[in-house]
Amino acid sequence: MNKVDYHLHTEYSYDSKLKAEDLIVKAIQLNYSLIAITEHLDLLPQELSAFGLPPFKKYVRRMKELREKCASEALCIVCGIEVGDFHRVRLQANDLLAELDLELRLGAVHFLSDHTNVAIPLPKPLDQDQTVDYYRQNLTLVETCDIDVLAHLGVHKRYYSAAPDESDFHGLLKDIFQTMIERRIALEINFSGLRKRYNRILPEPEQIELYRELGGNLFTLGSDAHQLEDFDAHYESLPGWLFGGGIRFPALS
Ligand SMILES: [Zn+2]
Ligand SMILES: [Zn+2]
Repeated sequence: MNKVDYHLHTEYSYDSKLKAEDLIVKAIQLNYSLIAITEHLDLLPQELSAFGLPPFKKYVRRMKELREKCASEALCIVCGIEVGDFHRVRLQANDLLAELDLELRLGAVHFLSDHTNVAIPLPKPLDQDQTVDYYRQNLTLVETCDIDVLAHLGVHKRYYSAAPDESDFHGLLKDIFQTMIERRIALEINFSGLRKRYNRILPEPEQIELYRELGGNLFTLGSDAHQLEDFDAHYESLPGWLFGGGIRFPALS
């Protein structure tokens, strides 16, 4: 089986201590053909003041070294980035990205307009207005930002105990998917939810089906692992059709 993971964090992300070397050793052992390391680029004022800016040039240099070291292996190591709330920090992010030699850009919504962080455990499920805000922000992100992949769509649900009724957001999801298809942005199938109470992939199979019905065929798979034990966890539970052909992973720049 051609194992791939397009969403991984290591020590250049403020919330990970994982060494890329350890990840690479495990990926080779488990016969992965591709891993993409996608460190956080978070530029909202509250994030910058809390975590500062990681040494991205050092990160890119380190990845190049590791790639050279592993040149004889069958593993492709991709140097990427996860831009948080890109649409809200677009000019600043574009300036920074222009200076970095990166091969993959994930875009992700982490904060709602009311400052709720949807990527960490929530005290209670989002209400209707917050959910509309969440999907609208994803729409603006895919409409306005230069990204390869939309990451973890529906991330807030990771902390739910059951799948909510999202029929009210069908139109918004359709707009998001149509825009992604037009702009050749891949849909990430994020399986971090399988490690959490929600126990589902994100987006869920019904939403993936909507994307496919609209003509979408560009996917990535992402564990969003921040520690070694989460890498490859539940990979075997992913839907079989993902590996049966008919879908494409994006060409890397
Ligand atoms: Zn994220
Ligand atoms: Zn991530």
